[in-house]
Amino acid sequence: MLSAPSNAAVLDALAALLGERGLITGSDTEPYCVDWRGLFRGRALAVARPASTTEVAAVVKLCAAHGVPVVPQGGNTGMVGGGVPTETGRELILSLSRMNRIRAVDPVDMSLVAEAGVPLQTAQEAAAVVGCLLPVSIGSEGSAQIGGIISTNAGGNNTVRYGNTRDLVLGLEVVLPDGSVWNGLRRLRKDNTGYCLRQLFAGAEGTLGVITAAVMKLVARPAVLGTAFCALPSAEAALAVFDRFQRRDAAGIQVFEYMSRRSVGLVTELIEGVGRAVETDAGHYLLIELGSINRDGNPSAVLEEVLADGFEAGLVLDAAIAQNEAQRRAIWRLREEHTEAQKRAGASLKNDVSVPVSRIPEFLARATAACEAAMPGIRVAPFGHIGDGNIHFNLVQPETMAPKDFAAESDRLMEIVNDVVVDLGGSFSAEHGIGRLKTHVLVARREAVELDLMRRIKAAIDPAGILNPGRILDH
Ligand SMILES: Cc1cc2nc3c(=O)[nH]c(=O)nc-3n(C[C@H](O)[C@H](O)[C@H](O)COP(=O)(O)OP(=O)(O)OC[C@H]3O[C@@H](n4cnc5c(N)ncnc54)[C@H](O)[C@@H]3O)c2cc1C
Repeated sequence: MLSAPSNAAVLDALAALLGERGLITGSDTEPYCVDWRGLFRGRALAVARPASTTEVAAVVKLCAAHGVPVVPQGGNTGMVGGGVPTETGRELILSLSRMNRIRAVDPVDMSLVAEAGVPLQTAQEAAAVVGCLLPVSIGSEGSAQIGGIISTNAGGNNTVRYGNTRDLVLGLEVVLPDGSVWNGLRRLRKDNTGYCLRQLFAGAEGTLGVITAAVMKLVARPAVLGTAFCALPSAEAALAVFDRFQRRDAAGIQVFEYMSRRSVGLVTELIEGVGRAVETDAGHYLLIELGSINRDGNPSAVLEEVLADGFEAGLVLDAAIAQNEAQRRAIWRLREEHTEAQKRAGASLKNDVSVPVSRIPEFLARATAACEAAMPGIRVAPFGHIGDGNIHFNLVQPETMAPKDFAAESDRLMEIVNDVVVDLGGSFSAEHGIGRLKTHVLVARREAVELDLMRRIKAAIDPAGILNPGRILDH
């Protein structure tokens, strides 16, 4: 452990390197030391805010020389505590926020080069200026940063159409744990030159390197969108409707989101001004958005056709298709307010899980029954990205229970859900990662060979354990 004098020496050296704007110390570090949900709270030696790759490299090199652990932090919107320091007070937060330049946007290469601290929404807007789409869409896009979404391999609403963030990374610039810089900012669509290093850093949650810049793949921007909200009698029907849309126009599916009666009910009860969009009170709902890059395309007509067929077949109970942007926004708001509504309902446990798409109905039925048996009165409120098998199987405390008593049960409940997930060939972390929240689950649920491979990769790239120790793999 570092002694007080060596702490002072490191802080002096950091101040000399970064200047006044580049270093935050003392109580001013506090906002950086807690996650947005207030689940993780720690203390930091300081917050370094380098403004260039050279400065990031110098900071990491200095920390490596003094054995100071470094915690990269982007927009701090993560769900698993990976970017928040522990309570030791020894870790240096390395905030990428000042590295916020878009270096290039190229509509012919269909690529965008951005520094790690560029907010996702800013990058989306830069892509839109040249008529392209950066197709990562998440509720936190105003704050989450390019480096953060790559490091967590963020999923979100468009995964069903364009894949996860890692599928959109063409190149990376990374500062390694010894302070050296790997410049892999290639914007190539084909590049089979040995191991695919950029994919090592995507999803590594800052444990292998600090991403300082990235080349992101852009796609053609849909010229027309059609958006529908519909009520269904069962999860099986939701899947059957998904299958019908895939057969009719798979490339048109931009978004295919599932919501349960309970999750929709919490939103309409607890969030002012949000309605259900259809009259029918059903057990299951879908938000479907289709797009066409062809200006003459008519996704609303496709929605109408497939939903009408579904209605005939007894798969759809009721549906509304947005006729204008205001109606579209209203439908989207119902989906976007899920996080806030569940927060207002009391303590909740977020299970970000995935199973093969075809097993979703079975998963929902079995996990719901198991949780209700384990805790009478628990409010099971699942929703999520059904089109890619990712359900946020969220559990809200019984109304009569104290939040802290519910929180004390969270590991037990998580394991009950994970047992079903694993039995169905699924994953206990679909898009949020492992961070500090699920390190013990990774150890319990992944095979020895897989864990050993991960530990060997970490040891090979970061033998001294400088970057984000204790995240993903226990230290
Ligand atoms: C309202 C809301 C909605 C959300 N919706 C979704 C969703 O639909 N899908 C989804 O996947 N997630 C979602 N999230 C979670 C979160 O937004 C994502 O995980 C996001 O990718 C995190 O980005 P960030 O910049 O905030 O990273 P941070 O939270 O700052 O960091 C996350 C991890 O990445 C590491 N890291 C950050 N920057 C770097 C870097 N430059 N180099 C190396 N490591 C780095 C950190 O150390 C940490 O381990 C949501 C969050 C909120 C608050």
